[in-house]
Amino acid sequence: MHAKFAAITALVTLLGANAQKPPSFPPQVPAAYPPYDDTKVISEEFIKAPLVQEAIAYVKAVVPADVLAIKPSTYQPNTPEAPKYNDDPVKRAYWPATLATRPGDVVACPGDNQWGLTYDDGPTTKENSPGGMVSKDVRDALKAANLKATFFLKGAPTKGLPEEVKATIADGHEVAIHTWTHHPLTSLTNEQIVAELKYTEAAIFEAVGKVPAFYRPPYGDVDDRVRAIATALGYQNIMWTREPDRDTHDAAGPTGAAVRDKIVKSVKDSWFKPQKGFISLEHDVNAFVSEVGVTILKEIKAAGANLQVKPQPIGQCLNAAPYRSGPVGANQNPPTGNTVPVPGGTVTTPAGDNNKTATPSTTGTPAGNPGKSAPGSVATESPCDDEKIPIRATSTVYVEPTGTPSNSGGKKDDKKPSTTGSPVFSSAKSVSVGLATVVAGVLASVALF
Ligand SMILES: [Zn+2]
Repeated sequence: MHAKFAAITALVTLLGANAQKPPSFPPQVPAAYPPYDDTKVISEEFIKAPLVQEAIAYVKAVVPADVLAIKPSTYQPNTPEAPKYNDDPVKRAYWPATLATRPGDVVACPGDNQWGLTYDDGPTTKENSPGGMVSKDVRDALKAANLKATFFLKGAPTKGLPEEVKATIADGHEVAIHTWTHHPLTSLTNEQIVAELKYTEAAIFEAVGKVPAFYRPPYGDVDDRVRAIATALGYQNIMWTREPDRDTHDAAGPTGAAVRDKIVKSVKDSWFKPQKGFISLEHDVNAFVSEVGVTILKEIKAAGANLQVKPQPIGQCLNAAPYRSGPVGANQNPPTGNTVPVPGGTVTTPAGDNNKTATPSTTGTPAGNPGKSAPGSVATESPCDDEKIPIRATSTVYVEPTGTPSNSGGKKDDKKPSTTGSPVFSSAKSVSVGLATVVAGVLASVALF
């Protein structure tokens, strides 16, 4: 009887989902955008916008209620990269604590010697990040090295600096979503998460007419609730490689030539040689991190044939389109596009219908210029990074009775970094894990630098 009940419940869920039209494609242009203030969450007045409300309705229709009911974490203003996680980090595959992934999560390029080259938190110009290198310097260094990359953009500066986004596209790079306020997403309500994604999507679409298929959660702060919401809205979860560590930690705090040179040497020593595919984490949000990125690119150029890995954008290494060409459920990147990951399985969302998709509507003149209206706020901003990485248990493989997650296996098991971002579905081995140990690990943190 139980199985029968479950089947009926699933059917009802799908029927309900089919009754709910996917969000407009291309996205609606909002009448106004939230202010550019990373210290505040998106307020209720902006959540009421049709752009957000239609997406929330769809999320509620296709994501199981128990997933949407996963407890939000507690935001810690002084250490936003380390929210206090209030649910079970193992059961919910909370990545910062466990490195557990779900089908569709990408933490590495799938092919040997592929280097997924990514820059977070831009765009920046002399206007919002005076006093040093900015996004254009990184792009110029990429051009000099004949390389393309993926830029995970914050929505507010994107809205204020559309020419930067256009220049990024014109140079042949990919752009993707990195949210509006850069809050850890698990600390937000379901509605706020939707708003973070949709306003950023709208700003990018307004700038370049493209709807990204990829997003990266700030601080890698993702659990099953965030995953399910983002996946339902058509975004693929792109992380970076933690085993082995491919974060430059450019945003860890200390700056200066000595720190820069230490980072660059570490990259040259360990990233330039043959290895499994990986995704690096760098930034272009302030002068120092941009300079680190530029210096690494100069070293890549100088290495020439001695560089034994191939830097490239995420869409290229995944062989997946970086932009959606249709509504949620249609034309999404396989294989994750139609699947909402949930504990114990997946739920297929309804396919969209290009012919029935609402035409884009402009509900008003975009107000304000968030990217330029926050003097000084960006220059001193701390980019996303895991400056304080929670200590993880030695065994961190997530276990579910019908377990689906792939997992990077913990520190001792770096010989096989799980699916490490393979865009292909795979099931994970079930390995027991000491929950208490993992929970204890979540509560502790260490500074890397
Ligand atoms: Zn970030």
